[in-house]
Amino acid sequence: MALLEPVEGARMPAEGPLVDRFGRVHTYLRVSVTDRCNFRCTYCMPAEGLEWLPREHLLSYEEHARIVGAFARMGVRRVRLTGGEPTLRRDIEQLVERIASTPGIEDVAMTTNGHAFAQKADALVRAGLTRINVSLDALDPELFARITRGGRLDRVLASIDRALELGLRPVKINCVVIGGENEHEVERMVEHFAARPGTQVRFIEYMPFGGNGGQRRHVPARVLRERLEARYGMTPVPAQGGGPSRDWRLDNGLVVGFISPITEHFCDACNRLRLQADGSLRTCLSRDRAPNLRDLLRSGVDDTGLEAAIRAQLWGKVAGHEAHLDGDFRAFEGVMTRVGG
Ligand code: SAM
Ligand code: SF4
Repeated sequence: MALLEPVEGARMPAEGPLVDRFGRVHTYLRVSVTDRCNFRCTYCMPAEGLEWLPREHLLSYEEHARIVGAFARMGVRRVRLTGGEPTLRRDIEQLVERIASTPGIEDVAMTTNGHAFAQKADALVRAGLTRINVSLDALDPELFARITRGGRLDRVLASIDRALELGLRPVKINCVVIGGENEHEVERMVEHFAARPGTQVRFIEYMPFGGNGGQRRHVPARVLRERLEARYGMTPVPAQGGGPSRDWRLDNGLVVGFISPITEHFCDACNRLRLQADGSLRTCLSRDRAPNLRDLLRSGVDDTGLEAAIRAQLWGKVAGHEAHLDGDFRAFEGVMTRVGG
């Protein structure tokens, strides 16, 4: 699949929606609130963990609120908190509350590993959290513990149950399919969640990243789709919200999605931006050239200057990643926990 070409004659707008040189409008912001995590998933981090950012390098909640406010004025409507593990950041519900009350923001979601979510769920929902995605790669407790390097499956399942009880629907289960490791769990995931109304499952291709040594271990989405179609039967679900998942309804009722950054990449429709844990704005998941909004804020910039800096950074956004190109394969730069998945 070829990469996008810039729109001919395009000029950086000084106002209006957040548009890039390729004409892509950006309405979705992922915010990594911490690079720390209580798991060590093999595809995300080395076994020994990483050198965590010093606390003063993280954005404060006041700084998050200012930056989110600027994005909202430029048309961002949806925010997802991620990490690292977002439930580890102290008083995270206070950040949810600030973001949920930002004029223009319609949706505040979270991606969590589910280890501690159940304990914080009530406060988060009261603060305005609207949806969660829970990462879960296996239903065999031993395999789960091996992939997460120590995670407890029962806690994650309890978090999913609590989210459903609180009405956070749909709860989307993110399953990274790792070649030779958990491929055989796919049908088990389908059976388990088909029996839990209110859930959906998304199968994600393994991405080569700094934290996993840039390995190529993805299972092509097409392979899984054909397998599930032959076993269950499925019909396409029309795309909604501009996300990267291509969704299908299985004949047993479960909606499954496929996120295929490697084999069927979706860069030409990308509407997302990432605020990293250290305050850098990452315009493409694959690239680490991200000037730092935290330093700009701490240097005393006003809101007009902040918005102009964001527009300028977005104008430099690349056409897409290159991890799908066999001849010119390039692993994604940086570590996922800082970037925010
Ligand atoms: N700790 C939270 C969690 O695991 O849900 C949020 C952060 S995690 C980095 C966000 C998402 O990125 C998770 O769904 C995780 O499975 C996914 N992820 C991490 N490394 C990945 C990789 N190398 N390839 C594909 N997905 C990955
Ligand atoms: Fe932690 Fe999430 Fe990365 Fe697993 S995927 S190590 S839970 S940040």
